[in-house]
Amino acid sequence: MYDVIIAGAGAAGSTAARILAEAGKQVLVLEKRNHVGGNCYDEKDPYGVLIHLYGPHIFHTDREQVWEFLSQFTGWKHFQHEVKAKTKEGLIPVPFNLNTLHLVFGEDADRIEKKLIDSYGQGTKVPVLELLHTSDQDLKRIGEYVYENIYLHYTMKQWGKKPEEIDKSVTARVPVKVAYDNGYFTNKYQAVPSEGFTVLFENMLDHPNITVKTGTSLEDCTEVQNGQIYYAGDKFEGKVIFTGALDELFGCKYGRLPYRTLEITFEHMEKESYQGVPVVNYTVSDAFTRITEYKYLTRQKINGTTISREYPRDYEGKPDEIPYYVIENAQNRALYEKYAVDAKNIKNFYTLGRLAEYQYYDIDAIVERAMKLSRELLEEKLWKY
Ligand SMILES: Cc1cc2nc3c(=O)[nH]c(=O)nc-3n(C[C@H](O)[C@H](O)[C@H](O)COP(=O)(O)OP(=O)(O)OC[C@H]3O[C@@H](n4cnc5c(N)ncnc54)[C@H](O)[C@@H]3O)c2cc1C
Repeated sequence: MYDVIIAGAGAAGSTAARILAEAGKQVLVLEKRNHVGGNCYDEKDPYGVLIHLYGPHIFHTDREQVWEFLSQFTGWKHFQHEVKAKTKEGLIPVPFNLNTLHLVFGEDADRIEKKLIDSYGQGTKVPVLELLHTSDQDLKRIGEYVYENIYLHYTMKQWGKKPEEIDKSVTARVPVKVAYDNGYFTNKYQAVPSEGFTVLFENMLDHPNITVKTGTSLEDCTEVQNGQIYYAGDKFEGKVIFTGALDELFGCKYGRLPYRTLEITFEHMEKESYQGVPVVNYTVSDAFTRITEYKYLTRQKINGTTISREYPRDYEGKPDEIPYYVIENAQNRALYEKYAVDAKNIKNFYTLGRLAEYQYYDIDAIVERAMKLSRELLEEKLWKY
């Protein structure tokens, strides 16, 4: 009855479903949550404010093909994303740029700006590490300020590390922009879907060849015997695309893959504005990493305002926890590879997405990857047997 079963209706699974359905394949999408959209899911809270339940998402890309593909399913609200950091100097723009320099260094700023431009040129991006190692005391001050006040404590919170566990050379790769430019991303397209991400993915999955079952996991409907998948008791000869956590699929038999999770709390206020900007990073104080004020992120015109706070923690695999951020290191990659070998031994089984590949993807990158995998499947380059 089905040519393809896809586990997961996030950006990865929904994109693959649509491409395969348009090519005439009958696609069954199984989603264990009670909604589509994966972590991009948004909904209106009881006060009518559109919130992102799994953390704030902004679409940004330079990939023309991905932009065109997604634009079939949504209009967009365009904007240039800007982020502030809360430090003792108040709200300062990040990444650190010449606007930030003048807010932080007051009377000294003109002198330091000239040195920055003379040394590196207008419009360049200078890694913080380079500034930390310069012999010029003014330039070094910028490096030290940025490292201490923007990256060090934030990174400790985000990844649950002690200062001595933070690799300065990795953290300090982040650039200082020698320009009056508060833009957070540099991409050509930066936008949110005009009616939200959920509507985008609902429209993508709305195709006569796609059947979606929410509240249903792959494990509810299939089993594997000797490398063969069975669906509803019968041998399944089609293809299965899995976008969930590979360790959990195999009962964590080699151990659990480490992740950072987030506890995200929401608060509604009957006032026009809380912070006046979409995102403020708390880089030196508090236990949360950032506050998002949704009406500024989604450009929704509404009375009252809703904010969220994100508290990072280690993921322990509890039922209400979500594995958000992969912890990339050689040991974790080696553990993942053990599961990947088991997955390869299942006939016509393909892993796709941030969980199944144990890899961070932005939305545009995973949509592109899903488009590529689907097209390769259609060209049957990927038959394993
Ligand atoms: C806090 C945060 C903020 C982010 N912000 C941005 C941003 O601003 N811009 C951006 O481009 N990217 C952002 N990202 C990245 C973005 O969330 C991912 O690119 C995207 O969610 C990846 O989609 P996916 O389909 O791989 O995974 P997911 O969205 O996680 O979808 C996987 C789906 O599979 C389902 N599933 C799992 N196991 C099973 C199973 N066994 N059976 C059936 N279903 C299953 C899950 O319930 C889930 O719905 C952010 C990520 C985080 C963590």
